[in-house]
Amino acid sequence: MNATRLADWEDKAASLVFRHQAYINGRFVDATDGRTFPTVNPFTGKVLANVARCDSADADLAVKAARRSFESGVWSRIHPRERKKVLQALAQLMEQHQEELALLDSLDMGKPVMDALTIDVPGSVGVLNWYAEAADKLYDQVAPTAQDAVALITREAVGVVAAVIPWNFPLDMAIWKLAPALIAGNSVILKPAEQSPLSALRLAELASEAGLPDGVLNVLPGYGHEVGQALGLHPDVDCITFTGSTEIGKRFLQYAGESNMKMVWLECGGKSPNLVFADCKDLDMAAKRAALGIFFNQGQVCSANARLLVERSIHDQFVSKLQAEIAGFRLGNPLDPATSLGTLVDAKQTARVLSMIQTGKQEGATLLTGGEQQQIGESDLFIRPTVFTDVTPDMTIAREEIFGPVLAIIPFDSEAEAVAIANDSIYGLAASVWTDDLSRAHRLARQLKAGTVSINTVDALDPGIPFGGFKQSGFGRDLSLHAVDKFSQLKTTWISLKA
Ligand code: NAD
Ligand code: MG
Repeated sequence: MNATRLADWEDKAASLVFRHQAYINGRFVDATDGRTFPTVNPFTGKVLANVARCDSADADLAVKAARRSFESGVWSRIHPRERKKVLQALAQLMEQHQEELALLDSLDMGKPVMDALTIDVPGSVGVLNWYAEAADKLYDQVAPTAQDAVALITREAVGVVAAVIPWNFPLDMAIWKLAPALIAGNSVILKPAEQSPLSALRLAELASEAGLPDGVLNVLPGYGHEVGQALGLHPDVDCITFTGSTEIGKRFLQYAGESNMKMVWLECGGKSPNLVFADCKDLDMAAKRAALGIFFNQGQVCSANARLLVERSIHDQFVSKLQAEIAGFRLGNPLDPATSLGTLVDAKQTARVLSMIQTGKQEGATLLTGGEQQQIGESDLFIRPTVFTDVTPDMTIAREEIFGPVLAIIPFDSEAEAVAIANDSIYGLAASVWTDDLSRAHRLARQLKAGTVSINTVDALDPGIPFGGFKQSGFGRDLSLHAVDKFSQLKTTWISLKA
């Protein structure tokens, strides 16, 4: 039975045991120099655990373990069916421990535990199962040649993959990276964000329990500029897969250039536009999804629909519908099942969002609602859902990724203007369009420069469908079989048949 009351969740939280050491070669170990860093519960302000603060010495150990496991063939050369079994067993264990995993993320970064339980954990399990099922169904190719030769095109694992992930969806991001890398036969080093290392450490332990051989999955908690950078620069890491800010994504390109030219795959920031046309018949649904599209997860979503472009003729009507939706959100203790919005991840992120709100006001946008920090219990890391109207495309709040519950509403008069505003961004992760004109829907799907264009919904997501960005939102795709390509090399084997 799932916990259904705040008191149940608090009891469960009180009895949790936090894994706090690095996970290298199938074992929990302290950082080489014994240092730790605190991971904090943003709702209580209390330290949850002092976690191993890994640096380059630990990266060396993890890379050695990963390399050894890779070269030994314990994972890389077994039948893909065996890989499937292990990953399915891990998915099953995750389901069995769903409340614990949900709690770890909720406590560590402030998201409502019910969101973690009903969205993050089942989403992660679904992605893992999807890849596990695919593991033994990937065929290689035979190229067309003349009769005197056979040319085989086969996939090979890349080797040692390092995954560096953010704190907004700690468990999902781990699985999005691990699952395709592991079915391809790689060994992996996972570097969770310093704000939210706990679920990754538990995941590694569950993976061992599921039968993943030692060294195939290693987890190095620590700071980005320490262990993250060490992985980026490591001469024996073959591939980096990263989700996080565009600024750090660019660093990884530099690290690769300065070291061994490792492959780099980036899923970075966004400023996704959501275009609402007057010909949309279901404006109630559009308003509901527009609110969810920016406020879900406290706005800490890379593909958040942060720019709402509304056709001027329905602007005022749509804005009042949106306000009614916002009134339904409830800020509160992340462990309270009635809570729909939790805290922001930490004080730094809260300060950043508040300063962007300040900038919005200074640059002349109209603050319609929210805009303030709110104290609940011990925590002042809540920000009320914030909406600015009268935003112009040149304003900072229309251009920069805020990564918080702040929506910028920009009116438009024509389709061409809407497309121009939507595409006027360094980012290109996602876009949404609300229209009941079929031709317009298809026209815009082609014209919008974004990795995902959702028509009459926001943020369409499925394990089988690629997710990733255009422009400075990055390159390479997460999810779907396309993600497996990032963690595979193509080998050509040419066989001469001349007698
Ligand atoms: P970040 O990009 O700094 O961190 C993401 C990951 O990279 C973390 O694991 C971090 O430890 C690591 N990292 C940080 N600095 C590094 C370095 N110098 N070398 C190697 N690795 C490094 O993101 P953040 O600090 O968590 O947030 C800052 C801003 O980034 C947010 O305000 C938001 O705008 C954006 N962000 C975007 C996403 C996304 O999914 N697109 C996720 C998180 C943050
Ligand atoms: Mg934390």
